[in-house]
Amino acid sequence: MTAMIEVRGVVYDYPSARALHGVSFDVQAGAVLALVGPNGAGKSTLMRCIAALDVPTEGTIAVAGLDVETDPRGVHAAIGYLPDFFGLYDELSVRKALTYAARSRGVSVADTPAAVEAAAARVQLTDRLEARAGELSRGLKQRLAIAQTIVHRPRVLLLDEPAAGLDPEARRSLSDLILSLSREGMTIVVSSHILAELEDYSTQMLMIRDGAVAGGGVLAAGAGHRDGSRVEVVFAETPDDLGDRLVALGVTVERLEGDAATLVLADGEDDSALLAQLIGAGLKVRAFQASRKTLEDAYLAEVAR
Ligand code: ATP
Repeated sequence: MTAMIEVRGVVYDYPSARALHGVSFDVQAGAVLALVGPNGAGKSTLMRCIAALDVPTEGTIAVAGLDVETDPRGVHAAIGYLPDFFGLYDELSVRKALTYAARSRGVSVADTPAAVEAAAARVQLTDRLEARAGELSRGLKQRLAIAQTIVHRPRVLLLDEPAAGLDPEARRSLSDLILSLSREGMTIVVSSHILAELEDYSTQMLMIRDGAVAGGGVLAAGAGHRDGSRVEVVFAETPDDLGDRLVALGVTVERLEGDAATLVLADGEDDSALLAQLIGAGLKVRAFQASRKTLEDAYLAEVAR
């Protein structure tokens, strides 16, 4: 299977400095990739290259099988791109702004009114369709900008810091929107510094640091990802010799604080077998669940390397 986005050896030079130093990775169709990294790491530069707005100094990028250098127009039609700092036409109404975005991205005259209504509804702007873009609050401007990027139903969505400036409710709506677009089959790349939020919808994480891919490249992340090697246990009763009894069972105890313990599974051991073992030894277990490795844990571990 070919990837929806293929980045190969991308170098990008600004006149004053090199921002990307040979970046390579793939994003598979249907993935939601969290692009993370410290300020100035090169995330926005990388997004602009994928969006066929800047041409890499070296290397190649293909989006939906189209080369960004030889077919930028084709790439523009296939993607939706929300830059970190976006501009709107202040004098246009929301309806006109979305109509313009739809038409300029190849939606037919006949299909445009429905596409405009659908995009406005997805970001809860239906009741503001006749408002001028310039008079919207910052958060509503952000929602209009997001609506403009999805109005033509692109196959690939690139969102650079889409949650910046949104209130908590709008952020939640944005997370829901990203999840629903993903379920409809869109491939999505999102950069953000709000890791807890990326966690809600990302299937993968890529960390960029100093213009290069950090760590092991694209990592599994977020929704549903579990660290299979550990379980968190809460005991209903805590006998004084609980620690000793666990050790006597051959269980590796990483942490034991009061009634809560983190236990490490042996290689290949099934967590249900461990639970049966604890109960079989007469221990009263109140809660038992696989440890969740958060995106934030993965990020901080990577930064500390
Ligand atoms: P942030 O998280 O702060 O948005 P980022 O990871 O998106 O950062 P970039 O904006 O891509 O990082 O910047 C990467 C590097 O390129 C930085 O060192 C930055 O100073 C430099 N840079 C970015 N834009 C330009 C420009 N137009 N001209 C020169 N250098 C630039």
